[in-house]
Amino acid sequence: MFDKVLIANRGEIALRIHRACRELGIHTVAVHSTADAEAMHVRLADESVCIGPPDARSSYLNIPAIIAAAQISGAEAIHPGYGFLAENAEFAAIVEEHKFAFIGPSPEHIRLMGDKIAARRRAAELGLPLIPGSEGPVADEAAALREARGIGFPVLLKAAAGGGGRGMKRVEREEDLPAALTAARAESRAAFGNDAIYLEKYLTGPRHIELQVLGDGHGKMVHLGERDCSLQRRHQKVIEEAPSPALNATERAALADLVMPALRALRYRGAGTVEFLYQDGRFFFIEMNTRLQVEHPVTEAVTGIDIVREQIRIAAGAPFVLKQQDIRFHGHAIECRINAEHPETFAPAPGRVSEYHPPGGPGVRIDSALYAGCRVPPYYDSLIGKLIVHGQSRNECLMRLRRALEEYVIGGIDTNIPLHLALSGTRAFVDGDYHVRWLEDYLAGRQP
Ligand code: ADP
Repeated sequence: MFDKVLIANRGEIALRIHRACRELGIHTVAVHSTADAEAMHVRLADESVCIGPPDARSSYLNIPAIIAAAQISGAEAIHPGYGFLAENAEFAAIVEEHKFAFIGPSPEHIRLMGDKIAARRRAAELGLPLIPGSEGPVADEAAALREARGIGFPVLLKAAAGGGGRGMKRVEREEDLPAALTAARAESRAAFGNDAIYLEKYLTGPRHIELQVLGDGHGKMVHLGERDCSLQRRHQKVIEEAPSPALNATERAALADLVMPALRALRYRGAGTVEFLYQDGRFFFIEMNTRLQVEHPVTEAVTGIDIVREQIRIAAGAPFVLKQQDIRFHGHAIECRINAEHPETFAPAPGRVSEYHPPGGPGVRIDSALYAGCRVPPYYDSLIGKLIVHGQSRNECLMRLRRALEEYVIGGIDTNIPLHLALSGTRAFVDGDYHVRWLEDYLAGRQP
């Protein structure tokens, strides 16, 4: 096992990784920007290294500074968390070239899945069903139009390098295609430095269902069940749950039967998530995320497996002892993403947290780096915490969620806790009867 791990991230996920390390007896090295000098992940780590100014490009994305921090501190491995460099194949390769273990998949798999067009091709070869769409990137407007006519409107323009819902544009009618293509290209170029766009049929009311997997890189592989992440705003997840209220045992088994042979064939290493849209009883592959996901705690709650610990064990070459038949699923779990933002306008709301009182009690987990008096800096993602509740049944889980949200006090800044409280009382959510556009429709209906 490693003696020291460098955590190349910040906020709640840096803390989450620190906790897994401590429970394995591993020392931790935090890195931070000057804006995060007082942050909880820095305070709790055994050592910390300042890697640059607030701008993420100069700090949390600064590969030479992070490698230097690992060398100076004598860390043996680097955990990238999610976001920042987690899905940067070049970073993973540089980490390994410098003789550190990368706590994640091989650079080759990160590269493959990071290019969504290549990932689609490979997924099809591996027998995963795809949403009807263009074979590759569309060269120009005329090609896009030809493809769209073949697929049938509405279509979705997607960025080959996409992530976080950026570069995605829904097109209802032919005449809107040229402008949408220009906009999608520009957005993708700005966000990813790559303007390759492909087309997919736009599914009108699918659910987002994903399977969590762990592999040892030599063909041993287990799955930890599915998560339903259909409550989304702007194609970004807001609430996630496990198991999915939409699947029965047969459908659940069918999902695992699709994914597991494919990933065994890839000899996938580490934690990964294979994402699908699910409509009319059919699963359609959309992408694979080659990293720890924000929503991993709901899976941990229902399986009792510490996914971060397993990631670290796999990277350290410890024997892979998980067996599918030993993995048991207990009860139901729901996660709310707590963001520093206005609950109605969604304007980011950084600032000083004047009061902080997280909920507790049975079945409640909080993953957050907040404390009373801390500052939420304006430079990074607005996610400031995650509330995860676990119950014997979905109903118990819903009741627990409401009472935990009612207890949660974050003073001094706006948060989306009021939105979560409102959502937890809606018929659709209580019945588990929602799809990926439901939340957008709900928000549109709520506007005056
Ligand atoms: P990103 O990598 O940007 O997160 P994904 O391909 O994972 O993009 O899709 C994110 C979300 O966008 C999905 O969960 C779904 O809500 C929506 N989406 C993606 N593809 C389609 C599609 N073909 N039809 C309808 N919605 C889609």
